[in-house]
Amino acid sequence: MIAIKNLTKYYGELPVLKNCTLDIQKGEVVVLCGPSGSGKSTLIKCMNALEPFQKGEINIDGMVLSDKKTSLPALRQQVGMVFQSFELFPHMTVMDNLIVPQMRILKHSREQAQKKAHELLERVGMKSHGHKYPAQLSGGQQQRVAIARALAMEPKVMLFDEPTSALDPEMVAEVLAVMAELAEQGMTMCCVTHELGFARKIADRMIFMDAGEIIEDSPTDAFFTAPASGRARDFLEQII
Ligand code: ATP
Ligand code: MG
Repeated sequence: MIAIKNLTKYYGELPVLKNCTLDIQKGEVVVLCGPSGSGKSTLIKCMNALEPFQKGEINIDGMVLSDKKTSLPALRQQVGMVFQSFELFPHMTVMDNLIVPQMRILKHSREQAQKKAHELLERVGMKSHGHKYPAQLSGGQQQRVAIARALAMEPKVMLFDEPTSALDPEMVAEVLAVMAELAEQGMTMCCVTHELGFARKIADRMIFMDAGEIIEDSPTDAFFTAPASGRARDFLEQII
């Protein structure tokens, strides 16, 4: 589903991704971890064409990102993304946040879009909040709506970049629960998170990055019980 080959990216002179190679199969849940500044967000943003890169290739379900013929709107429809900050349209109700993109991008009728919006809000436990504006919701509620809005585009892949790190602790669990359910339902997911307990439960594979390189790509149990590299071991010792 996602094939990244020898990806190299610079910010000016600074190399931030060095020869990264990563494959994610359909239905797989992969968690990216690593120290601050190691390139996790940059890698995720490259997958959604939010950042250009200089060398290598990213192929998402047959769409080659560096190919000029690849349509960015089509790519972004198929690759859903949820960020740390809440990115809902502030001037629209929760329902409209879900309905308007479906009508504009997927060309769904209002009735079709409404039906889907209701289903998705129910799925993320936000059924009774459709009439509210984002500012009237807690951070955890906004983030669940953001997930529902991304799902409304019927993506093939979902990318998450620390979706819970800006939340008050009591709201983290409700967002992780929605993500865990999505993983169980077979969504292909790539998540950056520091919630390693959560990662251990839902991830099929753990990717550890340091200084722009993929240092480790291991099955989840192996990563937590016997990380192959010293750097990953140090990282886990610090964080757990
Ligand atoms: P964190 O855990 O803190 O979110 P990260 O692993 O997501 O870190 P990135 O945000 O991908 O790290 O940053 C990787 C490197 O690229 C860092 O050295 C950072 O300073 C640099 N960087 C990120 N964004 C830019 C930018 N827009 N311009 C220049 N350098 C940048
Ligand atoms: Mg980051």
